[in-house]
Amino acid sequence: MTDSPDAAAVREEQPLSPEGPGDDAVSELDPQTRERRAAALARVRTFGDPVLKSRATEVTRFGPELEGEAADMISIMRDALGVGLAAIQLGIMHRLLVVQAGLDATPSAIVNPVLEWLSDDLAIAIEGCLSLPGVTVEVERPLHARVRGRDPHGEPVLVEASGLEARVLQHEIDHLDGVLILDRTEPEQRKGALRALREGETYSPPSTTDEDSRTEDDRAPEEA
Ligand SMILES: [Zn+2]
Repeated sequence: MTDSPDAAAVREEQPLSPEGPGDDAVSELDPQTRERRAAALARVRTFGDPVLKSRATEVTRFGPELEGEAADMISIMRDALGVGLAAIQLGIMHRLLVVQAGLDATPSAIVNPVLEWLSDDLAIAIEGCLSLPGVTVEVERPLHARVRGRDPHGEPVLVEASGLEARVLQHEIDHLDGVLILDRTEPEQRKGALRALREGETYSPPSTTDEDSRTEDDRAPEEA
């Protein structure tokens, strides 16, 4: 790994949203998909719900029940067209997340995930969140991450992730600590997003222009 901007600018195949497509994309979905998505989203706690500000506790009981819960979360995530979901978003206060970073990726569940290592290389990308309907903001995160945890049966798992997968894992682990993307973005975007959430409107970050001090190389591509 070098320090050159190019090395940091790994292109993410799915530029957006750790947790799902933007509202523009949703209007193009077929009716059944939209209906399934709405039903899944109805189960997800949204902004203002105190659970989203809480820290989830360690899982101590592994086995079939936890596996069933993870399977349920995976189907909600997929129906919602998300790429990740934390148990806390369903009001279940323990440390369990599911992730499927891309349509072709195999969904997996990680219990008691710990971010064991993060790269110095950072990238900014636009993120959305199933718990923050209609809102996207820019979030800077390490490009690579190593996560240690367990599967629902208690077997150790180790995930070396890059790009979108690394971003989703960090987003979901943040949820388990009561941290939202609003806490990770710059003050102006946070303000705009909070206003939109209060007023039931949508928010997306202003497009970067020349006056912005960031270089193109620092940015992941925007939502297509
Ligand atoms: Zn989220």
